[in-house]
Amino acid sequence: MLSYRHSFHAGNHADVLKHTVLSLIVSALNEKEKPWFYLDTHAGAGRYQLSGEHAERTGEYLEGIARIWQQDDLPAELESYISCVSALNPNGKLRFYPGSPLIARHLMRPQDKLHLTELHPSDYPLLRNEFLKDERARTERSDGYQQLKSKLPPPSRRGLVLIDPPYEIKSDYQAVVDGIKEGHKRFGTGTYALWYPVVMRQQIKRLFAGLEASGIRRIMQTELAVLPDSDRRGMTASGMVVVNPPWKLEEQMNTVLPWLHKKLVPGGTGHARVSWIVPE
Ligand code: SAM
Repeated sequence: MLSYRHSFHAGNHADVLKHTVLSLIVSALNEKEKPWFYLDTHAGAGRYQLSGEHAERTGEYLEGIARIWQQDDLPAELESYISCVSALNPNGKLRFYPGSPLIARHLMRPQDKLHLTELHPSDYPLLRNEFLKDERARTERSDGYQQLKSKLPPPSRRGLVLIDPPYEIKSDYQAVVDGIKEGHKRFGTGTYALWYPVVMRQQIKRLFAGLEASGIRRIMQTELAVLPDSDRRGMTASGMVVVNPPWKLEEQMNTVLPWLHKKLVPGGTGHARVSWIVPE
């Protein structure tokens, strides 16, 4: 089942959190000369048109990236993320939004490599075209979870894996835990960033319990809720789980998350949280 299209949701509050964390991790990798490898298991289309039919229909980006990208008091921690958005919108009007592959590309250096997989028959060709001329990137129409077995460890032994499924099938909640275990077995020093939606809190508690039981250490969590938890349909919050986070990430998120929460949720509902699922 592949009915999910990220173009309906691009630039929403969940993307803002996800891409903030992504850009901070990539920036941390850039602090050393040694090349890094980025694996994006669920890459999406790469670039999203915010004035397009899909994004206009939901208007989600208006309560996400549109609320923060031109703020005068932008925290330093958001500069690399916003630089990716600005690069796609050079005349100052918000028309395009960069997905995770474009954020990684904007921040990467000549020595770094990207491997991007996407299954959707409409989104994959868009992703492939975006990277046709970039020799540092490979795109593949294949199952993202499979890459955690076949592409790890990377030759450079440094890198980041982003796992960002749509959770349109319930098995994704277990598949992400199994996927992290598979990846970690092969590449224990890598950083793994997993996005999750909070639709039913119980599902996330189970996901975290699975991670705790895995025996993997250094698992951080950061979450931004726009509404309190609810039993009704719909996403009230989203978060990122980061295995082996860069040492500054906790402090950076503690600085930036209250600012993001204030700007994205002017009514002040929900919460902002940084904590450890499993410490050192
Ligand atoms: N990571 C993207 C970003 O941040 O811009 C967004 C990805 S979107 C949330 C999830 C994507 O996963 C969808 O485009 C969907 O078609 C794709 N997908 C679903 N199942 C997949 C699978 N097993 N392997 C690879 N891609 C998959």
